[in-house]
This record gives sequence, structure tokens and C-alpha cells, in this order.
Amino acid sequence: MKPKRIHNFNAGPAALPQPVLEEIQANFLDFGGSGMSITEISHRSKWFDNVISDAIIRVRRLLQLDKRYHVLFLQGGASLQFGMIPMNFLSAQDCADYVNTGTWSAKAIKEAQIQGKNIRVAASSEDRNFAYIPKDIAFTTNAVYAHITSNNTIKGTQWADFPDTGDAALIADMSSDIFSRSLDISRFGMIYAGAQKNIGPAGVCLVIIRDDFLSKVPVHLPTMLKYTTHADKNSMFNTPPCFAIYTIQLVLKWLEETIGGLEKMDALNRKKAQLLYQSIDASEFYKGTADQDSRSLMNVTFRLPNEDLEKEFIAQAIANDLGGLKGHRSVGGCRASIYNPTPLKAVEVLVDFMKDFEKKKS
Ligand SMILES: *Cc1c(COP(=O)(O)O)cnc(C)c1O
Repeated sequence: MKPKRIHNFNAGPAALPQPVLEEIQANFLDFGGSGMSITEISHRSKWFDNVISDAIIRVRRLLQLDKRYHVLFLQGGASLQFGMIPMNFLSAQDCADYVNTGTWSAKAIKEAQIQGKNIRVAASSEDRNFAYIPKDIAFTTNAVYAHITSNNTIKGTQWADFPDTGDAALIADMSSDIFSRSLDISRFGMIYAGAQKNIGPAGVCLVIIRDDFLSKVPVHLPTMLKYTTHADKNSMFNTPPCFAIYTIQLVLKWLEETIGGLEKMDALNRKKAQLLYQSIDASEFYKGTADQDSRSLMNVTFRLPNEDLEKEFIAQAIANDLGGLKGHRSVGGCRASIYNPTPLKAVEVLVDFMKDFEKKKS
């Protein structure tokens, strides 16, 4: 019997490409002729070595990384990076800038502050409940880095262009939009992304870090909390999250070979988001929560006329095999997360459902 699959708009962990799930399933009991599954073999075996090597090659190729950049797979999620970044890069004399565009930025700021680091919030969109991305920001001239959250998963906003930070390198939390578009990597000292939104299952955080940032890492940190430890050992200082890395490898293969790379992915993501925003804008019933010029192509946040209707909308959506449309518990409302793996077809089905629901209720 064909398994039942729904249209999955979860914010994270989120949908994965169906061909990837099928490939995992097909190879699960006997991985690469080993007679074992990927979850049962040594991370030092030739089988896993092929997996992680290929994953790294694909990351490097997709983002056109030059030799200065290191690709790491770390545990502890994006949340551990919030603490590791200031711990590794800011000495007592150093300062860094942060832009506060919502929950995840605020958490990154907090983790720097609790370590007593010298950081400045260069801009914030808190005055209007994070409905926009700040413009014309004056960054500190001697900052070691400027930290931004490239896509705000909860508030539904996204940096369309990255800000000019002068001499300070950008560090970006790209958990919810990495590999969704092309990128000029040379402006970044580091980017990081918890895998479970756009590129894989939970349990691994992809970190891309430039050489000059590695040279800032102090010696007297716990071994596991130093970026240099993981860079020196190619993410194999200890047992890496093998299954999660394997899934990332397959998702990136899908992205390169089936989708055709980041430009194609970008075009498809724009098409999906446009379809959804257009149908929201054409209606009096649905209202987008983010300013138009700050809208996320990944997380489309919207409200209905009242909370009772929102509850009913979400329930009826589930009854129609459309899952994950509830907004984050901190903000309410509705949210459709349409990451890379979400097919255009799913968005078309959602838009039809929204039209039907509006007709019935207004
Ligand atoms: C989900 C999310 C996080 C948290 O990631 P964890 O891997 O759960 O720590 C951080 N930043 C952004 C932008 C997110 O969307």
C-alpha cells in the first residue's frame, strides 16, 4: 500500500524531498554493500567517509567556497552557535554588532551578553513587533563581526539584501534559508544553519567558517567548544551525527542534480512565495504580518479576521491533508513554511484551500 503523505508546511523539523526519503529507505538495510545500515557503521569507515566527503564537496560547490572556508558539521543546534560565536571570536578588547530582528536574534544577543562580551545592538525592529528588516544601519567601525539572522522563521521576515557592514565580517544565522538562494560568500566570516529547516533532519548544524576567524579562537576553551577542534579533525573529533549528515548529503545531491542548483532553487522558491503572497494580498480576509519589502520567501505568516477563525482554518486544513499551518506559539496566527523541499504543487493546493475557506466564511 502506498503510504499516506500530506502537504507538510511545518516550520522545523520540516518537509524533506520525497526522493531523498525514498533513497534512504531503499538503501537502509544494506548501505553501499556493507550489509549494515548507515546508523550501524563506524564514522571512520570508508562508507561514512564517502558520505561526509561528498556532503562537504557539495556544500563547497553550491556556495562556491574558496580555500579559506571550512565546512563543519556540529551538534548542539544553531542554539549552541549563539554561545560559541562570542566565546570563540571576542576577546576582552573586542566588540561586535548584532541586529535584532526577532526571537532567534534576541537569543543570539542574550548568549553573548551572559558571557559579559562587549556587544552592541546596532539596529532592532522590535518597535513594530519585528514586522520588518531595519535599513541604513550604522555599524561599529572596529567591530569584529556583525551578526544577523538572515531569515526570521517566526516573524516571517528575511533580508532581501545583506547590509553593508564596513570592515566587520558578516556572521549569519541561516538556519531557515540556507541554500534557498545564491550568495556572495566573500562578505561572510561565518554562516551557520541548524539542518532541520531547509537541508536535513534535526541533530546537526552546518557551520561554514573563514580562516581568519579560526585564528581568533582562544586556547583555554573546553575542547568541544572550540571551532579549531572541529576544523582540525574535519568534524570527526568525536562521533558526528552520521545519519543527519547522510541526509544532508542526499538533500544537496537532490538540490544539484534534480533542481539544478541555487539559481533554479531561488526561482522556484520565489514562484512559490509569490503565489501565496499574491493570494493573501488579493483577499480582505487574510492579512500578511510582515512589511512587503521584508517578506520571507520561506515562512509566510498571516492572520485571519479573528482567532476562532484561525483555529478553524488550521483544523480544516489538517482535515484536508495540509499540515503545519499554525503560527509559532509565541505569536499565534498562521504560518506556511515553504522551504526548498516544498513542491509548488503543495502551495497550489494550499492557495485553493484558502480561497475555499474564505468563500465559506465571509
Ligand atoms: C530554528 C532556528 C534556530 C534554532 O535552531 P536549533 O537547531 O533548534 O538550535 C535558530 N535560528 C533560526 C533562524 C531558526 O529558525
